Amino acid sequence: MQWSDEASKTISKVPFFIRKRVKRKVEEEAAGAGARQVTMEHVRASQKRFLNRMEDEVKGYQIETCFGPSGCPNRAVEYDGLIEDLENQLSKRNLKAFLKKKVNGPLKMHHEFRISISDCPNACSRPQIADIGIIGACAPAITDMGCDECGACVDTCKEEALFLNAGRPFIHPEKCIYCGQCARVCPTGTLTEGQKGFRIQVGGKLGRHPRLATEIPGIHTPQDIPKFIDRCLDYYQTHCQKGERFGEMIEKNGVEELWIA
Ligand code: SF4
Ligand code: SF4
Ligand code: SF4
Repeated sequence: MQWSDEASKTISKVPFFIRKRVKRKVEEEAAGAGARQVTMEHVRASQKRFLNRMEDEVKGYQIETCFGPSGCPNRAVEYDGLIEDLENQLSKRNLKAFLKKKVNGPLKMHHEFRISISDCPNACSRPQIADIGIIGACAPAITDMGCDECGACVDTCKEEALFLNAGRPFIHPEKCIYCGQCARVCPTGTLTEGQKGFRIQVGGKLGRHPRLATEIPGIHTPQDIPKFIDRCLDYYQTHCQKGERFGEMIEKNGVEELWIA
């Protein structure tokens, strides 16, 4: 649906983690009024309705994604079933009922448990500030194929993680963030795509005491993700007393209990 400039500008100021949901509501408002374009009138009407029924709108969790599945060429991994799997998994947890018991006062969007998925380390959906951040990863592998020393891999790596020595590529493992771009530009097959999967980060948050998420080392398989999320939610629901954020628990107790076995 088309948006007027003013309505578009207003919606761009809504915090990114609920913007998609708010936008959908405003469009429903406009469609319900038989309009073809969203205007400020629809934004205001939707805002009023939303504020009056905010608790109804809270579902207890949010799952966000980057635009990778729409065809972004930077995707390090393509696994489109993950969002649907996580939606099913979280909807069964009834986190809204859980939060209702824990939070003193009406439930708000910022109480919800947030999972953010980005399909590459560019991290457009900001997984670093979600309760659980999932980041697509593709580790490069060095094969026995001859290297023609074209330097394309070195030029492509923004992390300065690659260098050539005696006609062979080498990778600094501590600098590589698994974007997989070097493997894509190598013309000889000396560098290829190795292990693919997801990096995981936990305990990110904004608010009064912002915190960047802590990385759980390694590249994890798509099958690992639901098990790990269950473990995080078990931990969260066990330790959450008054609707605290997951990041506060991680800050206090560390991540040891959450390691993937
Ligand atoms: S995080 Fe990566 S794959 Fe996703 S939209 Fe951004 S650049 Fe594309
Ligand atoms: S995967 Fe990305 S970060 Fe790692 S060496 Fe290749 S280009 Fe650099
Ligand atoms: S892109 Fe491939 S062929 Fe070119 S320097 Fe790197 S490893 Fe060698």
